[in-house]
Amino acid sequence: MKLMERLEVFQREVFPEYEQLFNTLAKSQSPETLVITCSDSRIDPALVTQTKPGDLFLIRNAGNIVPPHGKAGGEEATIEYALKALGIRNIVVCGHTDCGAMKAVAHPSNLDTLPSVGKWLQPMVDALNKPDQHGAESEGDSQLREIIEQNVLLQIENLKTHPAVADALSEGKLHITGCVYEIESGDFYFFSPKKEQFLPLSEVERDEVRMGSL
Ligand SMILES: [Zn+2]
Repeated sequence: MKLMERLEVFQREVFPEYEQLFNTLAKSQSPETLVITCSDSRIDPALVTQTKPGDLFLIRNAGNIVPPHGKAGGEEATIEYALKALGIRNIVVCGHTDCGAMKAVAHPSNLDTLPSVGKWLQPMVDALNKPDQHGAESEGDSQLREIIEQNVLLQIENLKTHPAVADALSEGKLHITGCVYEIESGDFYFFSPKKEQFLPLSEVERDEVRMGSL
C-alpha cells in the first residue's frame, strides 16, 4: 500500500478510535518517560510497551547515542526540553541485538564508505573497541553483545554530563534505566546497578525497571 492510501486508511479507520485521546492531546503532552533507542526499523517502542500516542518521548538515532554535553546537537536540546519543560522523570536507554551501528563500532573499517556514520560513531570506537581486551574466543557474537551492552552504559554516563540530567538526579527526581532488546526472542535485558550486569527481565528487581506510572 502506498503512503497516501495508508494515511487515508488512518484517517478513516484508525483515527476515530483515538479521537478522544487526540482531542485531549491536541494542545498539550505530558509523557513521563524519555526512551532513547536506535533508529533501527525493528524496534517499535509503542508496540513493546503497549503505549499510546502521548506516552513516550523519543530520541532515536544510529546506535542510541547520547553525545556528552557540549558535543550534542538535537539530542541535547531534546533532553533539556524533556526534563526542564515536560518534567520527565524516567529515561530508558535501549540498545538492541544485531545493531548495525554497534557492528560498525566492532569493525570500523566497514565505515570507510560512510564518513558521516564514522564521525558519529568514532567516540564509541575509541571507548568500546578494545581488541586487546578480547581473546580470540570472544570474537563475533559475544564481542558484539558486550559492545552493545557497554554502549548502553556509556550513553547513560554521557547523559549524566547534561546539566538538566545532573540537576534532576541531584534532586532525586530522575530514574535512568539501561536495557538491551533481543530482536529474535522479544526478551529485554536490563542493567542491574546492584548486580552490575545485564539481567533478563524475570531476574531484575522491579524497582530497577521503571517507566513512570505506566
Ligand atoms: Zn541499532
